[in-house]
Amino acid sequence: MPGDCAPHSLPFYDPHCHRCDRLSGFLRQVKADYPAYACLPVPPLGPFDAPLLIAGLAPGLHGANASGRPFTGDGAGPLLFGTLFALGLAERPQPVRIDDHPSTLRADDGLELRRCRISNAVKCLPPANKPLPAEVRTCNAFLAAEIAAMPKLRVIVALGRVAHDAVLLALRERPASRRFAHGAEHVVAGLTLIDSYHCSRYNQNTGRLTPPMFRAVFERAREHIGDA
Ligand code: SF4
Repeated sequence: MPGDCAPHSLPFYDPHCHRCDRLSGFLRQVKADYPAYACLPVPPLGPFDAPLLIAGLAPGLHGANASGRPFTGDGAGPLLFGTLFALGLAERPQPVRIDDHPSTLRADDGLELRRCRISNAVKCLPPANKPLPAEVRTCNAFLAAEIAAMPKLRVIVALGRVAHDAVLLALRERPASRRFAHGAEHVVAGLTLIDSYHCSRYNQNTGRLTPPMFRAVFERAREHIGDA
């Protein structure tokens, strides 16, 4: 199940959430333009008892917003899932593509994560991939509940500065207390937070983030979680 169900009463995902007026309106607009797209808040992916959480930014227009699953259908997904697969953290190197339309990258294609979980700082597609600070804060209630409820969580990899700040906010730390830098490690509230540049297509195309740089981050994350 893409969002799965945690044995916990705190809500960390609401498929009917409309707390952010601007984002809810934008989803309605996009749904009118792309009727086959999911256009809903995107649930987390992966086992709830994972020791590793990967915090992304927000769904992409033709990726998670279309397929309904994090990093499924956009340019960031192949690098992320390929890296996780190479390190034994995913069952497949990439989602199963039924055809070239992102909405046919189905959430039940058997791509399962092992010992890691993916969640986004903002669960709804933002215009221009840029959520407003108020939207990050509003959606942070879900991320905070998820982090607090994951029973074996030890390491969080934050993909980009917005995710880094959102994780700190979720852990009740001031974002300025830990500076974002690719490869930086922080100890926060008993967890290890590792920063990475976001694996967006833009960052890949510009060379800001290379596959070896990205893999090195996840090798460190895997070392931290060990074999348990
Ligand atoms: S971004 Fe989060 S808080 Fe805002 S409407 Fe979507 S699910 Fe709700």
